[in-house]
Order: sequence, then structure tokens, then C-alpha cells
Amino acid sequence: MKEYPIGLVPGPVSVPKKYAQAWLMNFGSSDLEVDFFDLYAKNQILTQKLLGTRKSVVITSGEAMSILWGSVKSALASGDRLLAVASGLFGEGFADMARALGFEVEAITAEYDSLPDPQRVREAALRFHPRAITAVHCETPSGTLTPLKDLGEIALEVDALFLVDFVSSGGGVPVNVDANHIDIGLLGSQKALSLPPPLSISTVSARAWDAVKKVNYAGYDAYLPWIDVPKKTYMPYTHDWHGMMALNLSLSAIMEEGMDNVFARHSRTAALCRKLAREMGLQLFPVDETICSATVSAFYVPESWTWEAFDAALRARGLVLGGNYGRLAGRVFRVGHMGSQADETLVSRGMEIVRDVLKK
Ligand SMILES: *Cc1c(COP(=O)(O)O)cnc(C)c1O
Repeated sequence: MKEYPIGLVPGPVSVPKKYAQAWLMNFGSSDLEVDFFDLYAKNQILTQKLLGTRKSVVITSGEAMSILWGSVKSALASGDRLLAVASGLFGEGFADMARALGFEVEAITAEYDSLPDPQRVREAALRFHPRAITAVHCETPSGTLTPLKDLGEIALEVDALFLVDFVSSGGGVPVNVDANHIDIGLLGSQKALSLPPPLSISTVSARAWDAVKKVNYAGYDAYLPWIDVPKKTYMPYTHDWHGMMALNLSLSAIMEEGMDNVFARHSRTAALCRKLAREMGLQLFPVDETICSATVSAFYVPESWTWEAFDAALRARGLVLGGNYGRLAGRVFRVGHMGSQADETLVSRGMEIVRDVLKK
């Protein structure tokens, strides 16, 4: 197994040693000890603060995909309609998931290097009467950040639940769950929280809980069993105590640094990354820099290179970046500067290697 001195993958990100120490501890059973439920409650409060919400917070074990599937299964009943707002792979993924689950789906799509048009979303919502509207805050493969407020207001207007994947933005940029009227917000541990992948965090509104109760979906990824955790001190499975401890360390570090300082650090690092890239002739993938997320930058693979050769040359010098998927595979690559990687020194060192490789 290879370790890279400079890791700039847009998730999973490098885990600081100070968080990794949580896995060296020997806890009791998370099912039985009051300490675990206290820790769960503390993490709920810290998460509310980080995400700008007074809504309830559910923390489950499992990679973020588990709550993307679980939220759709838990909030929609057979025959319900879902309107997927998509300007990237994850937005389209929501539509694919809902179709696979048998729901009636309409997708409002836009090019990957642009943002969705709220006016088109509103027209579709008024015509289609969806039970839920889904959106993706940061489209990690294309490096864009979709403003959520207009979409949240449309969901309110048509009485649809607003489900938002902010897996790769939460913790790096403000998410403002309440101001953006998000009913179910979805976050993973392996992006801006700088942890390994095994924890997922959801914010759930009162409206969403009503839907979840009515739908009454039962399954490994169901939301309903989590409704009164930690008050009822009972969970559907043995929780990941080590992950929960590491989450506490990560959230506490964010609060200690100050949320505004953390967001400013992400913005500064993103601006630096793009400036250095411009100087060496790399072209940003999104058409307009103002639609980019502060957590990840996407660039076209330079014309004289294949991604495979470029990637191999960077790795040989100790730098690992992100490739891409779907129609962006081989064409667009990413620099992940979220969480522990939102570090100007680290990004400068990484981009210096990119420049050296391009010169050869
Ligand atoms: C990382 C990520 C997820 C989780 O999916 P992975 O299996 O980790 O790729 C979901 N949504 C977005 C936007 C992500 O960036």
C-alpha cells in the first residue's frame, strides 16, 4: 500500500493524526454506556452549530451513500414523485436512485460546468407536483457550488420536501440549513470533516419527520429508528464509537478555530489554488470562477497529456489528486482543498509539483 506525502484528493481527505488517535482508545459498548449517548448528544449540538440549524440531527454509521439511499426510501412512499435538480453526477445520481426505487422522477438537468436554473425548477415543480425536490450543494466531480435558497423556497411553495446532499461542502463553506429551508441535509465524515468514511450525518426537519413516520420504511438504512436517539438510549445497531469520538475531535477543532475562520481558510486556499493553476496555463472547468466551491477545484486535463500519464507523473513525485467519473473521466481532474487539505502551504507544494510536471 502506498502513502503519498501530498494528498489532495477531494475526499476521502487526509486524516490528521490528532483525530486518528480516537481509534486507539478502548471503549465499552456503544449500546449500553451512557457515555456514548452523551457523546452523541454533544455531536448533535456541534453539528447544529456548524450547519446553521435548530433541526434535529441524526448520526449513523455507514458511508454517505447509505443516507442518500436511506433518505429517499424513508421520506417517499410508493407513488410519490421526485424532482431531481442536477448539474452534475451526484445530482443525476439522485434521479437514478429514485427511479431504481420505483418512484416517478423528473430531472431538471444543466451542463456540468454551469448551475441549475431556478426558474426552470420552479416551472417543473408547479407542473409536476413532486413530493420531494433533491439538490446537490457542491458537485464534487465538477467543482461547482449551487446556491440553495431559491430552490428551498420553491420546495416550500409547492409543499415538497427539500433533500440536499452537502457531503462535500458541509464544514468547508456555510450550509445554512434553516435559512435555505432544507428538510433533509446529508453529510459524510470523509470530506471537510477530515475523517475516514464510516459516519453519516443528517439534519431532519419536523416536516421530514412527519413524512418519515407516515412512510414507515423499515430497513438497515431507515431513518425512523433514530428519531429519539439519544433520548431513548436505544439504537438499531452497534454504533461506531471510535468514529463518533473522532467526529467530536473534528467538530471541536472547527469550533476552536472559529467557523468563520475555517470558511475563510477554505476560500483563501481555493483562490490560491486557482491563481497558481491559471499562472501555469491550466483551464478551470466551470465556465465562471464565481460558481466554484471553496472545497474543490476542477481543471481540464492539459491538452498534451492523457490523465493516466499526468496522474502517474504526479504520483511519482509524491502528489495524489482526484481523477473523474462518467463523462468527465479523463477530461477533468480535481484538487481537493477541503478540511485538513484547506491548507495554503500544502496546496502550494502540490501545485509546484504540477508545474514541474507540466514543464517537462
Ligand atoms: C463524496 C460524496 C458523496 C459520497 O459518495 P462517495 O461514495 O464517497 O463518492 C456523496 N455526494 C457528494 C456530493 C460527494 O462528494
